[in-house]
Amino acid sequence: MDQSGLAAETPKKPWGPVGPAAPSCSLTDVMSEQLASQLDEENIVFTSDPAGDLLLAQDFPDTASDLMLAQMLQMQFDREFDDQLRREEKKFNGDSKVSISFENYRMVHPYEDSDSSEDEVDWQDTRRDPYRAERPQTTPRRGFSGKGKNITTKHDEDTCGRKNTARMENFAPEVQVGDGLGMDLKLSNQVFNSLKQHCHSEQRRSARLHEKKEHSTAEQAVDPRTRLLMYKMVNAGVLENINGCISTGKESVVFHADGGSLEEQPVPNEVALKVFKTTLNEFKNRDRYIKDDYRFKDRYSRLNPRKVIRLWAEKEMHNLTRMKKAGVSCPDVVLLKKHILVMSFIGKDHVPAPKLKEVQLSPEDMKTAYHQVLQIMQQLYQDCNLVHADLSEYNMLWFEGKVWLIDVSQSVEPTHPHGLEFLFRDCRNVATFFQRRGVTEALSVYDLFNAVSGLNVPVGAEDEAQFMAEIVALEKRNEDHVQRRGKKTFPVSSDDSDPPLNPDSDD
Ligand code: ATP
Ligand code: MN
Repeated sequence: MDQSGLAAETPKKPWGPVGPAAPSCSLTDVMSEQLASQLDEENIVFTSDPAGDLLLAQDFPDTASDLMLAQMLQMQFDREFDDQLRREEKKFNGDSKVSISFENYRMVHPYEDSDSSEDEVDWQDTRRDPYRAERPQTTPRRGFSGKGKNITTKHDEDTCGRKNTARMENFAPEVQVGDGLGMDLKLSNQVFNSLKQHCHSEQRRSARLHEKKEHSTAEQAVDPRTRLLMYKMVNAGVLENINGCISTGKESVVFHADGGSLEEQPVPNEVALKVFKTTLNEFKNRDRYIKDDYRFKDRYSRLNPRKVIRLWAEKEMHNLTRMKKAGVSCPDVVLLKKHILVMSFIGKDHVPAPKLKEVQLSPEDMKTAYHQVLQIMQQLYQDCNLVHADLSEYNMLWFEGKVWLIDVSQSVEPTHPHGLEFLFRDCRNVATFFQRRGVTEALSVYDLFNAVSGLNVPVGAEDEAQFMAEIVALEKRNEDHVQRRGKKTFPVSSDDSDPPLNPDSDD
């Protein structure tokens, strides 16, 4: 067999497999002169072999290192100790069903020791470990000392109790586990488990509560951003004080506040803050009031949702300004700041004026109210070039013997693609309300529509479908006309003197 070939393939391990054992020979053989000279000759052959060095290293593994030798000896000794231990363990346990392990007394070499569990590490790392003082040494120097001594297992009640107490430090940080007052606390498994259970469910509960709280603030439109804006108004002296919420509507929250002064001009004593909701759900349905309004058309498409909300606030402001100019009774605009509109308060001493829906009026007053509403609708259409588009007994307040119009963010011009349909709906609400409240001279919805718009749509058989068809045809004709000429056709007094619109300005 070629020795050098074998040597090249064998890994270089001190106690790894070595080549086949050399044939044994007797002492006389070793001492023989003849053999000596024979070996000498062979040596000459070996040294001429290029792989010679390698073979020598292989045959006499690292005997040069004292440390290595010592370690190998120690290991051998430890193995014998462990074997002895195993035998003792077997003898100790005998046929008993409950067996006790002597594992901890084994002389394990560091690189062999890797079987300590996570849990054990946690427990031993606990700083204030009440158990530490009594813990048995895991590896006694002289190993196991025999029967008769008390042996503590991991199921021992005291051990377990202390371990459970120490483990409580792993609970969530907000859970108060106390410091044990220096007592040697022992928690039974049952108590520990129910504490742990309680801790988990508490955590879940508090997470749920937190979520709910955040949600409700969003619901009320007063998110931190809005609160900051409101605070700034008070800081700037525009408002003296913000008192409380008057109403939580579909698309806004209205607050009552005490007015201060703005640029040296006094602000009304009592003001209403209309905060447009930044949650968009409601506005989604109301897109058509704004995106088809030619005044806002160009800007609408390139705005993000938050800016669209500001557009609503701005629209309400412009509409109120127009109405005021035409002499329609409505709140005075004080200030517009992003999605918050400040206007004069309709009401007195913190009490808002009642809606027409709520107020109990005498027949006389009801008649007066009707004639006022008719006049307001005509002014709105003919002087302001507006259709309210959400007119009803809910958006008209009764204050100091007068009807006041509010909530005009969705109001559009009559030439809006659906403007006449919106007007018809307004007329139906108004006619129905006053007829029900016993106002005998209240016009029918069709007559009211014509009285307001001056359009003379044929009333005929008083068939709503037919009337609506006429209205839609009118709108269509107008649309075509606008497209051909870029011009409106309805008989309206065109007063488009609104200031330039610009909500992107102060971000
Ligand atoms: P809703 O969905 O209820 O119609 P909205 O979001 O359209 O609410 P508004 O109708 O403008 O908001 O206002 C809601 C309520 O707040 C009104 O019904 C009215 O009672 C009160 N309110 C609004 N503006 C004023 C004001 N200037 N003065 C007094 N009260 C006001
Ligand atoms: Mn309203």
